[in-house]
Order: sequence, then structure tokens, then C-alpha cells
Amino acid sequence: MRDTQSGQIFVITAPSGTGKTTLTRDLRNTVDGLGVCISHTTRTPREGEVNGESYHFVDQTTFDAMVSNGEFLEYAPNYGNAYGTSLAAAQVVLDQGLDLVLEIDWQGAQQIKALRPDAIWILIVPPSMETLRQRLESRQTETAATLKTRIEAAQTEIDEAKAADYLIVNDDLDTAKQALRSVVTANRLRFARMIGTKPSIAALFSA
Ligand code: ADP
Ligand code: 5GP
Repeated sequence: MRDTQSGQIFVITAPSGTGKTTLTRDLRNTVDGLGVCISHTTRTPREGEVNGESYHFVDQTTFDAMVSNGEFLEYAPNYGNAYGTSLAAAQVVLDQGLDLVLEIDWQGAQQIKALRPDAIWILIVPPSMETLRQRLESRQTETAATLKTRIEAAQTEIDEAKAADYLIVNDDLDTAKQALRSVVTANRLRFARMIGTKPSIAALFSA
């Protein structure tokens, strides 16, 4: 991946059902200058999911070919399916000077951190495991079997995210939305980033 002066990568992970999609959608609707990559997956589309919008839904052969060709910035197996972020799509966002928001799992987050230590990893957790179960059930997207798998995977998702930079508890939704916006906004005010991206501000400092 080419280095980029301006675009920052924000990686958002959470146990399935925590509210990551809800919170990330709000972030994108309320904060300017953010770009996303539509991930590729071998998973079957859920009802209402549109190819090219929710995901690029591809078969295993296509996914494997993309892996062989080095087309993924990161990829990982999840619940028996494969998921990956296209390197080219990520580069397009960063080259535009936009900040890239990646909604991925802990395996992908660890890969991104290894590649780009300056990426900001935000972990979102539910206030309790019982709340997580209730949210997954209320979403009505899981069978009894997939619900069990996702609850079991939730503990791993949390345990494997100890290298995250920020931790947001999604209890009250509005508070969590505000917290997520604050992380992005505060990171944009980092001294090095301000100097690197705003020549008129950099010019205030004597050489
Ligand atoms: P994820 O993307 O992490 O799997 P979703 O954003 O799909 O989670 O949220 C799972 C369910 O929980 C959805 O029905 C959503 O409306 C609900 N939800 C999300 N955040 C909250 C919250 N803070 N309080 C109550 N319900 C929530
Ligand atoms: P779902 O099937 O519920 O859409 O997603 C299952 C898990 O895969 C979630 O934790 C989601 O964040 C993760 N995921 C989605 N896209 C990607 C991706 O491109 N890379 C990785 N590593 N994980 C992804």
C-alpha cells in the first residue's frame, strides 16, 4: 500500500450485534471527508442486501483468485465465509485525501495495524453479553445456530482487540454516536496531521 500524506485509516471492530453498522452509518452521515470500501465476501446476501452496496458478493473461486493476485489489503475467514478489503478500493479513498473507515473483524484489524501502525483501531463493545444477545435476536437476521456461533465468536472478538486504540461502549446509542464522532474529530486535530495537511496553518510556524 502506498504511503499517503493525508488520509487516515480508522478501523472499527465490534462483536456482531453490538451496533457497529448503526454507529458507522451515523458517523458517515454526520462527519465529512470519510470514505469506505465495500468489502468482498463469499457469504450469501441477507434479505435486503444489495450486491455492490452491502458487499461485493463473490464465489469462493473469485475470492481465491483475488487472494492469489494480491488484490486484498486484508482478508479473513469468518463464520465459514471469507471476507476481504480490496487494496485498490482502499487506495482510491486515501488518494482522494479522504479518511478511510473500515468495518471489519479483529483479524483484519490486526493485519491493518501490522501494515499501517498509524491506523486508528476503535473497538465497540456492548454493555453486557446479555444485551448483545438481545440485540442480535431483535435484528432477526440469525437462525438459532448462527446466533449461537455469533455469541461464541463475540468473546474472541473482544479478547483479540486488546491492541485497539479506543474503546466505546454502545449502551446509550446517542452517547456512543457522539463518542465515535469525537474520536475521528480529535484525530484530525493531531499536531502532525494539521501541519501535514494544512499548508496555511503550517506557515504560521517559523522555520
Ligand atoms: P452490528 O453491525 O454490530 O452487527 P447492528 O448495527 O446491526 O450491529 O445492531 C444490532 C441491533 O441492535 C440492531 O437492531 C440495532 O438497531 C440495535 N442497536 C444498536 N445499537 C443499539 C443501542 N445502543 N441500543 C439499543 N439497540 C441498539
Ligand atoms: P456479516 O456477515 O455480519 O456482514 O459480517 C461478519 C463479520 O465479518 C463482521 O465482524 C464484519 O465486520 C466482518 N467483515 C466484514 N467485511 C470484512 C472485511 O472486508 N474484512 C474482514 N477481515 N472482516 C470483514
